[in-house]
Amino acid sequence: MAYNDQNIFAKILRGEIPCDKVYEDDYVLAFNDIAPQAPVHILVIPKGPYISIDDFGRDASAEEIQGFYAAVSKIVNEQGLASDGFRSIANTGAYGGQEVPHYHLHLLGGKKIGPMVSP
Ligand code: 5GP
Repeated sequence: MAYNDQNIFAKILRGEIPCDKVYEDDYVLAFNDIAPQAPVHILVIPKGPYISIDDFGRDASAEEIQGFYAAVSKIVNEQGLASDGFRSIANTGAYGGQEVPHYHLHLLGGKKIGPMVSP
């Protein structure tokens, strides 16, 4: 599957659609989820054209990967998630329930997040 640059997060990255920005640097954009599932629900996306954690891990440069996870660490500390804990989720593909085909990490916190998967 080829990356489709008409996906909603690509449009947010190009500034064609607004977002509630939490953090930005050379490698990532992070913004609040439009339909939050927890008191804090942030999406972190790489700036490069990657569909999922799969091609990100395979095709992104070491600099992009390091930049991405360094930013995640900055965000969870700046947003106060690190001390009490949080959940990070990367839904992937059909079985993973991924809706937007641009790699994104959900960061959920601000309360105890429930079971890891629904029964
Ligand atoms: P996925 O199911 O692909 O892992 O998650 C996609 C997430 O993107 C969902 O939690 C959904 O609420 C969020 N989302 C979809 N469209 C938009 C949008 O236009 N703006 C923002 N901020 N979040 C969005």
